[in-house]
Amino acid sequence: MNSEISVKPFVKCRASITPPGSKSITNRAMMLSALAGGRTLLKDVLFSRDTNIMADCLQKLGYMLKLDRNENTIEIDSAYGSIPNSEAEINVGNAGTAARFVTALVALRKKGKFKLTSDKAMHARPIKGLIDALKSQGATFEFLGEENHLPFVIRTNGLNGGDILIDAGESSQMLSGLLMASVGAESPMNVKLSSGTVSKPFVNMTIEMMKQFGFSCEVDGTNYKVDLRAKRRADSPRIYSIEPDATAASYFVALPIVVGGVSEIVNFGSCKLQGDSAFVEVLESIGLIKTQHCGNNLLVYASENTVFPETVEVDFNDISDTFLTLASISMLLPFKLKIKGIAHTRAQETDRVGAVACQLRKFCASVEETEDSISIIPYTREELVKKLPSETLVNTYDDHRIAMSFAIAGCADIRGDGKPWIKIENPECVSKTWVDFFEVLYTARKDSKKFRVIAVDGGAAVGKSSVSRECSRVLDYMHVDTGAHYRTIAYGLLEQGVDASDKNAIIQALKNLKIGTALEGNSAKITLNGNLVPDSEIRNERINLKVAEFAAVAEVRDFLKNYQRSMADFGKENHFNGMIMEGRDIGSVIFPDADVRIFLDADEETRAKRRAKEGISDSIKKRDELDKNRKTAPLKQPEGADLIDTSHLTKEQVVQKTLSLILES
Ligand code: C5P
Repeated sequence: MNSEISVKPFVKCRASITPPGSKSITNRAMMLSALAGGRTLLKDVLFSRDTNIMADCLQKLGYMLKLDRNENTIEIDSAYGSIPNSEAEINVGNAGTAARFVTALVALRKKGKFKLTSDKAMHARPIKGLIDALKSQGATFEFLGEENHLPFVIRTNGLNGGDILIDAGESSQMLSGLLMASVGAESPMNVKLSSGTVSKPFVNMTIEMMKQFGFSCEVDGTNYKVDLRAKRRADSPRIYSIEPDATAASYFVALPIVVGGVSEIVNFGSCKLQGDSAFVEVLESIGLIKTQHCGNNLLVYASENTVFPETVEVDFNDISDTFLTLASISMLLPFKLKIKGIAHTRAQETDRVGAVACQLRKFCASVEETEDSISIIPYTREELVKKLPSETLVNTYDDHRIAMSFAIAGCADIRGDGKPWIKIENPECVSKTWVDFFEVLYTARKDSKKFRVIAVDGGAAVGKSSVSRECSRVLDYMHVDTGAHYRTIAYGLLEQGVDASDKNAIIQALKNLKIGTALEGNSAKITLNGNLVPDSEIRNERINLKVAEFAAVAEVRDFLKNYQRSMADFGKENHFNGMIMEGRDIGSVIFPDADVRIFLDADEETRAKRRAKEGISDSIKKRDELDKNRKTAPLKQPEGADLIDTSHLTKEQVVQKTLSLILES
C-alpha cells in the first residue's frame, strides 16, 4: 500500500471520544466463551482486523459465532472445553493474540491436525516458548518455514494436565493462551514459568477474565494452577461487556499535551482489566496532564506551568503498548526522555523500538537506543520548525500504533499556520484495532464543533464564581464573571460622583465609560477606559452597598447587555471551546438560548458562612432583595434551568454536578 495522509494541525482539542472495545479483551472473551459452558453474548465488541481474525479462527474450528457489526455484539456457543473440528487451515494474519491463543486452543483436540499460516511479519514473531510447552504434552509440529516459527502444521492429542513448563519471556500472550486452554485439559494443569514474563498486567487480565467466565486460576509466584473442575460447573456469563480500549484511549490522553484543550474519554472508568489505563497516571506523575473524573468519564487536559526536570526516565514494561504514544510526542516536549523496559516490543508488529527511533530521528536532535530502551533529545520548537523542510513522511511499518501515535504528534500546530508537517504512510493500518481512528481524530478538533454557551445564575455567595472558574479551566472554556461588570460600572459611576437614584446623571456618566476586554488566563475581564480596575477597588464594602442599586437601573443593564452578548464572539476568536458566563440574568435575559442553563442556590446560613470564611463582610441579604425585586431582569431561576442546591455540597461536588450537566447536554 502506498497511500499517505497529511495530518492537519489544529489548536486546542475538544475531544469527546468513546474508544472502541478493547482488542485484548475481545479476543480473550471469544476464546473463553468458546471454552465455557453454554451460550455467551459479548457486547461492545471491537470489530477490527485482529478480532475478525480471531472470530474467523474460531469459526474454522467449528464454533458457532453470530457476529452483529451494527450492534457490536458476538454470540458464541461453547463446545464445553473441546474443539468441534479435527482439521482446519487457519490464517492468523499478523494478530499476535490469535496466533498464540489459537495455537494453545487447538492443542485440546484429540487426534487433531491444524495448519496455521500467517502474514509474513508474524513469521518472525516469537512463539517457541508455547511450542515447547505443547510438545511436552504430546503435540507435534511440522514447520513449513523457519524452525519454531509460523507457519506450521500442529498435530494434537489433547492436553493431559499436570505440570507444564513454559518460557513466556518473549511474549506474555503465550502464557495467556496456555492458561486459557488449560481449562479444557484432562486433569488440572499446573503452568510454571521457566523465566519471567513481560507485560504482566496482560497476564492478570487473562486470570481475571478466566474468573469472570467461571474458571479458577490460583497464582503462586510463577506457578499458575488452573482448576479443571471449575470448567465443568462453569456457567458462562450470559452477557459479557467488553471494556473500552485503554491503549486506544492513550492517543487522546496525549492529544491535549500537544494541542491544548481538553479530551473527554467516555467510559474510561470501566477500564478495570487493562494495565494500559495506568498510562494516565504515568503522564500525570511526569506533570504533563491533569485529570478530572466526571461520572464514568475522564477529562484530560495539559498541565500548565509544570517545571520539568532536564531528563525524565520512565519504565514502560507494564504498559508497553503505550510507549509509542509518549515516544512520538517526545519531539515536542521540553525535556530529554528515556523510556525503558521495552525490549520485548522489538518482537511485536514490527521492531517497535527500532522503528520509532528511526522515525524520531527525522524530528529530534538525538535518538539513542539500547536493546531495552530509547532516549530522545528533542529540538527546541524553533529549531524543529527550522529543521523541517516541509512535510515529513512517517513510515509506519504496517504498525497501527506507530500510525496513530505519530498522527497525534502531527496535530501540533508547530508553525502556527495550521499547515501539515507530518504525513503518515499507509494510514489504513490503523484498522488492526481502530478502523475509524482518523475520522475520530478529525472530530477532536474544536472547529468541528459548535462554540457552547453555559449560563450560570444565582444569588450572592452561592458558589457561582468558584465553580464556574473551575469548570471553565477543566473544559477549556472562557470564564466571564458579569458581577465584576456591574461592580466595575458602579465604580466608574461613583468615581464621577453619580448617585444611583439620578437616572439622567447615570445616562450622561455612562457616556464617559469606554469598556473593553482583557484576557487573563481563562478569564475575560472587563476593562474601563483601557484599564483593568483592580479587585481591591471593586470588591469592597463601598461597592457592595451600591452595586445592586446601579444594577437595578435599566440603562445600566442595557449598557452591558450587548457587551456581554459579544463575549461569545470574543471567546470563539480566542479559540475557547465554549464560555461559562455567570451572573443574575444570564440564562433569563442575556443568553436565554444558552446550551446549558444552571441556577445555583444555597440557604442563607451557608452563604453567610461562606462569605465570612472569605473574610468578606457583605450585606448579601439586602443585595439579594434588591436583585430579586428590581423591575429589570430580576434575579430568578430561569424557566427550564437546572437547579443545584449547593448548601450541603462541597465545591468539588458542585463542580462534578455542573460538569455532568454541561457534558451530558
Ligand atoms: O456576582 P456579584 O456578587 O459580584 O455581583 C454583584 C452585583 O452585580 C449583584 O448583587 C447584582 O446586583 C449585580 N449583577 C446583576 N446581574 C448580573 C451580575 C451581577 O445585576 N448578571
